[in-house]
Amino acid sequence: MTISRRRMLGVSAAAVTAASMSSLARAASKRVVVIGGGAAGATVARYLAKDSKGDIDVVLVEASERYTTCFFSNWYLGGFRTMDQITHDYKGLESGYGIRVVHALAQSVDAASQTVGLSDGSTIEYDRLVAAPGIDFRYDLIDGYDESMADNEMPHAYKAGPQTALLRKQLEAMDDGGVFLMAPPPNPYRCPPGPYERASTVAHYLKTHKPKSKILIVDPKDKHSKQALFREAWETHYPGMVEWLPGKEVGALKAVRNGEIVTEKASFKGQVLNPIPAQKAGKIAQIAGLTDDSGWCPIKDASSFESALVPNVHVLGDACINGAMPKSAFSANSQAKVVSQAVRKALTGSRQFEPRFRNTCWSLGAEQDSFKVGADYRAEGDKVVKVDGFISSTGEESSVRVKTAREAEGWYQAITSDMFS
Ligand SMILES: Cc1cc2nc3c(=O)[nH]c(=O)nc-3n(C[C@H](O)[C@H](O)[C@H](O)COP(=O)(O)OP(=O)(O)OC[C@H]3O[C@@H](n4cnc5c(N)ncnc54)[C@H](O)[C@@H]3O)c2cc1C
Repeated sequence: MTISRRRMLGVSAAAVTAASMSSLARAASKRVVVIGGGAAGATVARYLAKDSKGDIDVVLVEASERYTTCFFSNWYLGGFRTMDQITHDYKGLESGYGIRVVHALAQSVDAASQTVGLSDGSTIEYDRLVAAPGIDFRYDLIDGYDESMADNEMPHAYKAGPQTALLRKQLEAMDDGGVFLMAPPPNPYRCPPGPYERASTVAHYLKTHKPKSKILIVDPKDKHSKQALFREAWETHYPGMVEWLPGKEVGALKAVRNGEIVTEKASFKGQVLNPIPAQKAGKIAQIAGLTDDSGWCPIKDASSFESALVPNVHVLGDACINGAMPKSAFSANSQAKVVSQAVRKALTGSRQFEPRFRNTCWSLGAEQDSFKVGADYRAEGDKVVKVDGFISSTGEESSVRVKTAREAEGWYQAITSDMFS
């Protein structure tokens, strides 16, 4: 493809096509390929390119041209954000830092030749590979459920985008008096408070549009993240609307069928169904040999997140097993800065500071009523360990909750700009 034709098609000169990649000369003697342009991968690519100042050729392989954040997707469901406000592109990474963004699917990794095979048949060499593919879903554990059903009929909406929009449409079409039936996933999974924040923002929508409706949560777990805080929010803002049933009463999610979720111990009817499957690392991690029997990716050193199974590959974000950090965008972004330094050290001999990690997860219990949990962490061998933590208290003044909600909004602005601009 010639430059002029590329221009005609409206593709920026910096955005090279996957097909042209294999014939492209390296932009520097060392090359890092990053698979996945989400919270983890976009941040690693940005910090690597920014800090190496041209010494490292950074290639970001991302399947989609635009990234809708799972974080704040519950805000979209509740009507607090538009889809546009939670969707980002990669233009800033291309034009601001010279990162070569390739929109293709990474389909194979050859650790011996240090190459990644792409969906268009081309291959890209790497000196270091960063794998940040996020999660995949265990559809095999739920009779009657698969990817096509999730995309078209019964969205889990646990990868944000079209499924999130479909779920919102289904809520809009639901009768006043209908039941929104959610089955959260078993541990470990992306964003431990996510399903319960979703119940809260959906409750906000229902309270304001369909007040006779109910939310039923059939959980395989006996306890969940920020339980007392969510319970308090539901009782205060949506009395009688949200019912949560624990694992000891319902057991694991087994099947879905028209209007029904079937668990080990019972079956439940609803008008809008939101089964969220058990999870594992994104598919390419398994193909690349980065996963163990758990379906997640072990690391051998928490100060570099280098894979325990494949040399010269670093794996971070939701896909990895790191020890104490939860699977969150905040965690992924924090890990990415450590990985970026570790990769630069390995390739250019630059200095790495002592790794420090941080996470905070804010949840919206109701409009202007937000609470948070968080911690600081450090690297210890192959594990990230917690140093200290905090959690909001029940019974806090509403002014504190309003301030916490503002903090969450500020965090969203800051973290998305730290990833994409
Ligand atoms: C409802 C919900 C609410 C949440 N709320 C919060 C919150 O408030 N705060 C918070 O910190 N976290 C939150 N999270 C969690 C957060 O979204 C994830 O932890 C975070 O996105 C993980 O980042 P990641 O980079 O590992 O994966 P992702 O962000 O999923 O990125 C992975 C990327 O890799 C790409 N990819 C995968 N495989 C390939 C391949 N083979 N080739 C090319 N590209 C590929 C995907 O297209 C994707 O863009 C929430 C999650 C959900 C579901």
